[in-house]
Amino acid sequence: MVIDPFDRGGLQDAEAVLRAHGVDAYFRAVQGWTADGCAIIDGREVVLAGSNDYLGLSRHPRVIEAAAEALARYGASVSGSRPLNGTIDLHERLEERIAAFLGQESAAVATTGFQANLALAAAMGPGDVAFSDARNHASLIDGLRLGGGTVRSYRHTDLGHLRRRLDAATEPGGRLIVTDGVFSMEGDVAPLRDLRELADEYGAKLIVDSAHDLGVLGQRGAGLHEATGLEDRVDLITATFSKALGSTGGVIAGPAANVRRLRYNARALVFSAGLPPASAAAALAALDVLIAEPHRRERLHELSRLLHDGLRALGFDTRPSTTPIVPVSFPDMAAAGAFWAGLCDAGVVVNLVGPPATTRAMLRVTLTAAHDAGHAERVINAFATTADRLRTPRAPHPDHRF
Ligand code: PMP
Repeated sequence: MVIDPFDRGGLQDAEAVLRAHGVDAYFRAVQGWTADGCAIIDGREVVLAGSNDYLGLSRHPRVIEAAAEALARYGASVSGSRPLNGTIDLHERLEERIAAFLGQESAAVATTGFQANLALAAAMGPGDVAFSDARNHASLIDGLRLGGGTVRSYRHTDLGHLRRRLDAATEPGGRLIVTDGVFSMEGDVAPLRDLRELADEYGAKLIVDSAHDLGVLGQRGAGLHEATGLEDRVDLITATFSKALGSTGGVIAGPAANVRRLRYNARALVFSAGLPPASAAAALAALDVLIAEPHRRERLHELSRLLHDGLRALGFDTRPSTTPIVPVSFPDMAAAGAFWAGLCDAGVVVNLVGPPATTRAMLRVTLTAAHDAGHAERVINAFATTADRLRTPRAPHPDHRF
């Protein structure tokens, strides 16, 4: 049999299952936004309850203005890699500002968050072992695999399993423990303090991907390391500008020596064009707004509480999330797809995800600080009407008190 390398696995398979059930869920283009925070998709106003623009900054006037100014001043591209001609002063300012905000000695800006994680390859060499949470983001896994060492995954947030893995490792090199801060699909939070303790016990370095907790967790919004009092106790933080910072780009931050090693040695950083000027300026302006307007974070959490409570009251189980990422499970992709399509009919678009990106078929629901309680109500009502219409079996959440 001849194997077609373009025809196997991944999202393509999920899409085929959905298409067979008449559901067309992916690559749906947003055509614009209304003044009251609705997206326009297929010419219709909908509540887009799937965005990672957690603080609603991607369309903030200060962010847009800063991006437009940078575009006019520096052009559309830096036209080269950072070490050669592709560094602009905005990158340097952003690196200083984001390092200070994260409470880290140093930072290096990358072109995407995915690229920042690919740079972790430079922290791995022959004989090194990375212990990676089984539900870490694909970019962390790929970055670690690109390094020369061994990658061992431990069961999701299972400290006992991680310890057994650490005990069993015989490789002669260094050890890294690598985790998402907030897990991107299920919205649960890594046990960072316990991971730090284990790392100390075994002489390992601790790396956290704060893509979904930067701007979201901690008193200042710096992320999980701040929320857990570990500001100066992580060996590297990676993050993205494409979520709470409303732009595009990535960052690695931590002790200067660690950042420097990746800045000079990571192929993903050295051999790729630097962050576009408009994106750098947008991230800088967004950081200012994030700091100046903490009420945005409060609104995000308030809306997230409304979502969790409202969906639980309807009998949907949103565990294990304790964050603005609200997961709702279904038995399979066909059931999740049918529900997703029902929500669309009711004017609400959420994220439809399934294996291999997740362990189960789910809808991933998020609201942002650009939404209000009215949007939350529309989402909850859409879940109620769709569940009634499709007769979706539900069980009241055990923690919910009516
Ligand atoms: N890490 C995590 C945990 C993510 O969820 C994502 C994006 N989904 C990334 C990294 C990659 O970020 P970017 O979109 O900037 O490439």
